Parts: sequence; structure tokens; C-alpha cells
Amino acid sequence: MFQIPRVITSSLLLGVLALGTISAPAVAQQDEKPLLQILDPEKPATTTTRDYVNVMGRTRPEAKVQVGGKPAKVFATGIFVRDQVPLAMGRNEIVVIAESGTQRESRTLVVERVTKPAAEFSTAPQRLQLDPKSASPTGEVILSPGEELIVGVNGTPGQIAEFRVGKDRWLPLVEQLDADSTTPTGRYRGVYVAPAGVERGPLPLEFRLRAQLPKVSPIRITGPKEVTLATKTKVTLWDGTKVHLVRTRSNEVGLVHGLHEVRLGGPYVCVLPENVVLRVTGKQSGNWHVALTPTLDAWVSEQDVEMLPVGTPPPHLFFTIVSVGGDELSDTVSISYPPTSRVPFSVTPTFGPEGRAQLLVDFYGAHHATTWISHRPTAKAIREVSVEQPAREHVRVKIDLASKQLWGYLTEVTTNSLVVRVRRAPVLADAPASPLKGLVIALEAGHGGPANPGARGVSGSREKDINRMAVDELARQLQAKGATIVEVRPGDSNPTLGERARRATESSATLFISIHANWADQSRGYLRVSGTSTYYKYSFSRDLADAIHTRLLEMTKLGDFGNVGNFNYYPIRGVTWMPSMLVEQAFMSNPEDEAKMLDPEFRATMMKAVVQGIEDWLTAQREAMKAHISEKKE
Ligand SMILES: [Zn+2]
Repeated sequence: MFQIPRVITSSLLLGVLALGTISAPAVAQQDEKPLLQILDPEKPATTTTRDYVNVMGRTRPEAKVQVGGKPAKVFATGIFVRDQVPLAMGRNEIVVIAESGTQRESRTLVVERVTKPAAEFSTAPQRLQLDPKSASPTGEVILSPGEELIVGVNGTPGQIAEFRVGKDRWLPLVEQLDADSTTPTGRYRGVYVAPAGVERGPLPLEFRLRAQLPKVSPIRITGPKEVTLATKTKVTLWDGTKVHLVRTRSNEVGLVHGLHEVRLGGPYVCVLPENVVLRVTGKQSGNWHVALTPTLDAWVSEQDVEMLPVGTPPPHLFFTIVSVGGDELSDTVSISYPPTSRVPFSVTPTFGPEGRAQLLVDFYGAHHATTWISHRPTAKAIREVSVEQPAREHVRVKIDLASKQLWGYLTEVTTNSLVVRVRRAPVLADAPASPLKGLVIALEAGHGGPANPGARGVSGSREKDINRMAVDELARQLQAKGATIVEVRPGDSNPTLGERARRATESSATLFISIHANWADQSRGYLRVSGTSTYYKYSFSRDLADAIHTRLLEMTKLGDFGNVGNFNYYPIRGVTWMPSMLVEQAFMSNPEDEAKMLDPEFRATMMKAVVQGIEDWLTAQREAMKAHISEKKE
């Protein structure tokens, strides 16, 4: 029933035509396409240190291809592959032959296999030098007593390298040796520990390189026997006698556990609204070092916060009353959180006693003072709320649910309170109707627009188009079951990830499903990585993702790439108001997977598996709810 969306390019249309639903003129067109085109290696003559080469190219889907005397796999897209064709040392000739009917074409690839060159190390006489571009850290550094700073610089190998902060004494740097050859690399690293009892700075960071004794050094140094490098880095030392505070200045400020970069961001210790005050002890690489409690630290980007005047007293939170109730929409837990006590907090969904769903609300910079937790009968999903203090400055509010399944939660900061909304279970249609009947499901077709096409398939297909076609098919099948669809990325639009999450949250959807296609490095072979996988962030979405994963494996016969937890893709992490999960259908980087994703029949089966997985999970929920109600009656 579906038109092919207009966004699909001619290259993809050719891909679809090549799948076998071909009319006579299309066949005629195909005959004009070249019978043999080699795409990898890109050049007919190449050199490698590997003991194999992957050969990939384009032919016609009906053709037979031999690579180095062995058959290559030919896919419906016309892509052919033979992975890891073995190479002898020296010159290798690989003959590629494509045959279709009476036509035959061949090419000879020349691949020169050479030995891996030893690590670059020259004993020729050199002048001492330090590379200014390699010096780290850069920018502003602030340290409290005992805090450590890793410093490093690259220079002439095999010498004596040192650094100093201000006019303090020179401290040693240690040279890293090459892992294979154990020869000196010229990469020098060291650590600075901030001293106690000094408040100084900003101080310059300097590096120095001195010539090693000729007896010890394999390199003879010509010219000066010592060079120094003054960096632009400035180090300020705090003496630990003052409290330094910063305040969040936007919503959704993420605090990370350490200074590392992860493609999708996080994981986060907490994600904070604006006007939360944090105690900081130092700064490195554009991030403030945050002291949450005496034993728990975190880092926050300097761009997300503003400094408060030195001497501002730190906020501290205690509350005597917690109110548990509800309105028409959800249960609510209200905790006093006045503007003068905006300490950092985190909300974590997990499981409590007897496998029941639980939400943990942790406050950092607080003490336990609760003597009154009022539970009103308007609360339907919450069984009990309790408060404890697991450590110094750390208070934990435990929200225990009556059921094993959490259906979503939201955190709101009002004028004087922190309110955690706990979503109630949806009303599911009675058997034998599908539990999907009457539900709203939010869908995302990953990527979109000219700026965000996603991964590129081996034959030239684009992930955004494959996701679009899959979501259109999924929407059609879910509607046939009586569900209503909310599309967070309609057509070929490209809303921000935050906007996609907001659209899902603001819809009255019960579930959020995001559809993507995967990509893996092809250097060790095009067919090496394949399979289907599912992803979730929070524990309360685990079983839904698992149910879909199980059906995908069973119904598509694709390989297994796992049900992956703690996944940080924003729309999945940002949507907490409903169980949310993501499907990576299969691999765009694998020509076999790609051809399957371009096949409308396969796509229908794959989306049927997703629908079946959702239904399995909802049916289990429907049964659990029934059992729970009859348990209550007894
Ligand atoms: Zn993607």
C-alpha cells in the first residue's frame, strides 16, 4: 500500500530494481551496466602489510564471480565479495572473473605484500627539540591540594625530559617505549600532584629536555645540550581553605564520572536542571572537578555553569516531610527542595525487594532528617517511599513500586519542591484482542535530511532511507493491530535528538521504538560483522528490548549481535516517560545484511518480528496485571 517515499534517490531505486521485481525494460537497462567493477581495492595495484586482501565490487545480481579461483558471494544488490583472500609475501596476482550468460569479463589485481616496517627510530645525530603542539594539558588548570594533573610532551627520543609548574623544582617525565620494538618513542609523560597549603597562580607550565650522556643515549645530540618549552597552559593552585561554587545555567547539564570522550556522551552521574549549585575543587580540559560528597566526585563542562563569588556558603539540603500521592495522570512523590538548597541529585530506575520496580532519588550535600512520609490513597503505582543516608552528605529516597514494571517517570523542579512523577500502567485491551489495541506508540526512523543520512551501505544505500522504509512498514503493521502512531521524525525531516525525545515524551505514547541500521569496520572483511541487535538505557526497558530481540532472531534468522544495555543514544536516554528501546536492524557495512534490508519482503518479516516482540511483552504485562489484581482481592 505504500508509495516509495520521494526522498529515495535514484541509486536506491536501482538497488530496489535489482532485487528481482524486474520488468522487461529494466532487464534491458541492466545489460548496459558493466559486468565487472572492482570497488575494493580501489586501485588495480596496491601494497599491504596484511597477509590477506578483501575484494569487493559490483556486478549484476545474476552473474557468477570468481576471485583468485574461488567463488565470490554475489548479492541481490549486485555487490560481490570475497573476504580475506590470502596473500603470499611479495607480488600476488588475483584474477577476478565475472560471467553472465555468454558474457565474461576479467581483471587482474596486483597486491604487493611487504613486511611491517619497524617502529621509526633513527640513531642519526639530531638536535634536541620539543614539539609545542604536543604539549598537554592546554588551557586553564586549577588544582586543590592532592589533586593530580597528567602532563606530557613529545621531543627527541632517548633524552632526559622534565617539567615544572611556576618556578618550583623540575620534575621528571618518563619516556614511553614502543610496545613492539621497545625503542624510545620521544613521548614523555609525567604527573603533578598539587601541594598542600599554597594558594598561587596562575603559574606557567614549562618543559625541558636535556641531552642524555653519550654512553647511555643511542642518539648523538648536536647543537645545544638543553632546550626548554614555555607553554600557554596556566596552573592555579588552591590551598583548600576556601569553598568554590558553580551554578548550572541551563537545563539538562550532565555530570560525568571522569574525563573521557564517548561518542554518545555520558554515562552521567546526574543530569541537572538550571540553578543547581555544585562545589568544585579544580579544573582541567575545560571541565570543573565537582565534589558531590566526600567520597563521590564528577566533572562538568565549564560552559554549562557559572562561578559564584568566593565565600558564598555551599547549599545543604535536609527535609522532614515527603508526600506521596497522585493526580489523574500519575503518582507523585514531593520532596522539599527550596531555591536556597539546590544541591545536585540523580534519579535512577532499578529493582528493589522481590524484583519490584524501584526509583532511587539521591541527593548529594544533604543529611537525613525525614520523620514524616505521608502515603495518600491517590497513589496507585507506588507501594512505599522510604529515606536513608548511605554515606556522609548523601541522602537516598527509595520509591518502591507495587509492580515489577515501571511504565515511566519524570522529574520536575517546582518553586519549592522536587517532584518525581511515576507513571501508572496503561489500560490494555482484554484478550483475545491484541494488547496493542488502543495504545499510542512513538516511533523514530533514525537520522534524516541532507545533513544526517546515517551510515552508507556497501551498494550506496543510505541508512536514513532504510530506516524510513522500515518505520513506514512498522507503523502500517502496528496500525493494523489497532495502535495509533506518533512519528517523532516524519518524512525526511531532521529534528534535533532533543526535539525527537521531547516529541516522544509529550505524546501520550506508551512505548518508544527507534529504528536504525548498524555499521562496522570493514578492514578485516565485509562479511565479518553481521546480525541484528537491540538497545536500551534503563533497566525498566530491558524486558521489552529482550522480547523484541528474541523475535528478531527467531523470525529473521539474522545473526545475533546482542541486546545491549546502558546505551546512551540521546532519544533513548532522554525518554524516561515510557519504556524506550532501539533496533539496529542489521549492518549497512555488510553487503548480505544490506541486501536483506533493501528487500521489501524481508523488511516486512523483520518489522513483524518487532510487532510480535512488543505484543509478547505487552501480553506478559497484561497477565501480570491480572494476577496482581486477583492477589489484591484475596
Ligand atoms: Zn543510525
